[in-house]
Amino acid sequence: MKLKKFLSIPVFSAFFLMCFVYYITVFVFIEDWVGLQTSAGSLNNAIFSFVASLCLLSFLVGVLTDPGRVPLSYIPDVEASSFASDQDPKKNVLQSKYCDKCAAYKPPRTHHCRVCKRCILRMDHHCLWINNCVGYWNYKAFFDLILYATIGSIHSMVIVISCTRQKDWSNSGTTPLKIFYVACGLMTLALSVTLGTLLGWHIYLITHNMTTIEYYEGIRATWLAKKSGLNYRHPFNLSVHKNITSVLGPNILKWFCPTSTSHLKDGVSFPTLRDSA
Ligand SMILES: [Zn+2]
Ligand SMILES: [Zn+2]
Repeated sequence: MKLKKFLSIPVFSAFFLMCFVYYITVFVFIEDWVGLQTSAGSLNNAIFSFVASLCLLSFLVGVLTDPGRVPLSYIPDVEASSFASDQDPKKNVLQSKYCDKCAAYKPPRTHHCRVCKRCILRMDHHCLWINNCVGYWNYKAFFDLILYATIGSIHSMVIVISCTRQKDWSNSGTTPLKIFYVACGLMTLALSVTLGTLLGWHIYLITHNMTTIEYYEGIRATWLAKKSGLNYRHPFNLSVHKNITSVLGPNILKWFCPTSTSHLKDGVSFPTLRDSA
């Protein structure tokens, strides 16, 4: 059952953290800052709750969506697999595109996950926080999750700081309360910086049509190419526009909907530089 995916300490911790940040932002800090009944309070509450629900939706989609299973009928395309390889095409297909553990051929961009114990289409990485691999079918949900989590953390941090600055500490400030306010400020700051950095990294990967695994493979490929006096270019990096739309979809409004994946095909073949040349 897919619901078993939720029975994991990191997933439970991530869910608990989301609930905790939501609770303190709305019921402690907005309430203390301007009050939930005021127009500023209800506007901040509405925006924050909207972003938080999209964050939770992306989280659930990320946990529950199968990242991508190799079809049983999959047979490698010998010609395509030999692209950018100076080895014997057949040898290359058999050696690097065959998963010994699954005893099956791997499509391009597919990798075997040791945690999931199977091959994952367009595998990015295995994410503990969603107890799932981030692959072809749930990468968009994962990206939306870090996008909404970053926006929510920054919004929460601004609310905590605004509330702390305007509070009359000389009359109402007991030491434990002061510590709680400072701790919440530091927590939202740490979340904003961590999630913001992760978001920036994945924006870089999307605009270059790379996965985290391919980024590290690319470093080695670039080094090897340089040694032989050649230039390496990531074969799936077409153009910024094509790269973004292949991952998030052609409609910009749907980029922000984690369940909208109608633009995805089979996850087995991907257009390369050679196709567009
Ligand atoms: Zn495998
Ligand atoms: Zn995995």
